[in-house]
Amino acid sequence: MTRPDAVVVGGGVAGLAAAAALVDRGARVTVVEARPMLGGRAGSYLDPATGEEVDNGQHILLGCYRESFAFLRRVGAASHVRVQPSLEVPYVDLGGIRTTLSCPLLPVPWHLVGAIIEWDALRWRDRLSVLGLGQVIRTAQRHLAGKTTRLAASPEETVENWLVRNGQSARLREMLWEPLALAALNQPPAEAAAPPFVRVLAEMFGPEPSASSIALPILSLREMYAEPARRYIEARGGEVLTNARVRVIVEHGRAVGIRVRDREEIRAASVISAVPWFALGDLFDEPPDRVGSLVAAASRMASYPIVTVNLWLDRRVLDTPFVGLPGRAMQWVFDRGQITGLSATLLSLVSSGAAAIVTEENDALVALAVKELGEAIPAARSAVVRAGSAAGGDRPPGVHPRG
Ligand SMILES: Cc1cc2nc3c(=O)[nH]c(=O)nc-3n(C[C@H](O)[C@H](O)[C@H](O)COP(=O)(O)OP(=O)(O)OC[C@H]3O[C@@H](n4cnc5c(N)ncnc54)[C@H](O)[C@@H]3O)c2cc1C
Repeated sequence: MTRPDAVVVGGGVAGLAAAAALVDRGARVTVVEARPMLGGRAGSYLDPATGEEVDNGQHILLGCYRESFAFLRRVGAASHVRVQPSLEVPYVDLGGIRTTLSCPLLPVPWHLVGAIIEWDALRWRDRLSVLGLGQVIRTAQRHLAGKTTRLAASPEETVENWLVRNGQSARLREMLWEPLALAALNQPPAEAAAPPFVRVLAEMFGPEPSASSIALPILSLREMYAEPARRYIEARGGEVLTNARVRVIVEHGRAVGIRVRDREEIRAASVISAVPWFALGDLFDEPPDRVGSLVAAASRMASYPIVTVNLWLDRRVLDTPFVGLPGRAMQWVFDRGQITGLSATLLSLVSSGAAAIVTEENDALVALAVKELGEAIPAARSAVVRAGSAAGGDRPPGVHPRG
């Protein structure tokens, strides 16, 4: 390839989306990815126990992920996710009671109010407490739209404080807001900062009811978007290199290209970093002038682990593609067979904000997942676990901070 206009470092979703957008505008682009497979944290890998391809954790999208859907449409992969017509979430609580939160097809905010009023997991006092959030979510939406400088949450308060301050009852927090906050922020609500959570609520609950719908990939993440993106980029003259860990060449304070595997150089007019914060510093001997403070800030950021346990069972035990398990270490269980339409009996159990369990051994994590699954889903108690494996921590492979 002749000298590219841009080199994109990192073949995860961000790098592939950036490269796809650039080739669309006629730019010559080279993507360089350190690992053998594209996809990064939203990628697939071969499970060591079974040799099967599994995802690095179940990924869900929400209807409000406008840019993600635009990227999928661009690379011809929009049909690779199944989007709910409106938000519907089955739950089993700690007492084993099963209920479903189901948003009626009504305009905002009535779809959420309607769902909560109808949700029999709650007492009336809990249902009415949701009304306390209406005004504050509207403030957050106006702030997002640049129509007010008023903040709906202070940067100092935690998600938990914010929910209590806004009158959310303990049961509503336990069943709805805390699992949502954990899934969205990957940090316990007692520690996570409120503003990003309030932004999630502002995006999810307005103005389109479909913004809060859940979308599930129906193929592995590799097939869902990573390989379609590669094909899209290559078909437009771009180049995608894997197994290519790079460092950025900086001359006179400017990034002018990359060095692949400490040997070959690729010079380009622009170098785009699409690596996670924990890998940013490793790109440079000396960062370019305008990037130094960013690299320093990134190096101070902590990460939080997320754990996935995959269980291969001898039979199907769920009657919906996923179930929320609030209050448990494993907060969600996904039935990969129902999601992908394959006959597999693979369940993926997810524990977000998993600092307390991430250091456990594989067997202990599998045992925890089997125990919690059996407690919540009676049909699982008689199922035979043919294989189980866990992935979690804060580094690859299959082992990443949520970010
Ligand atoms: C288990 C799990 C579950 C998740 N679930 C969800 C979910 O349900 N919904 C959701 O929205 N998000 C979810 N996320 C978060 C989501 O996966 C990430 O936000 C997203 O994948 C980040 O993409 P990225 O391209 O920014 O970074 P990454 O995916 O980390 O990609 C960066 C790439 O850069 C490469 N790289 C790093 N250094 C170099 C170098 N020097 N040279 C070349 N390449 C390099 C890495 O190998 C990597 O492939 C989840 C994350 C995890 C780990």
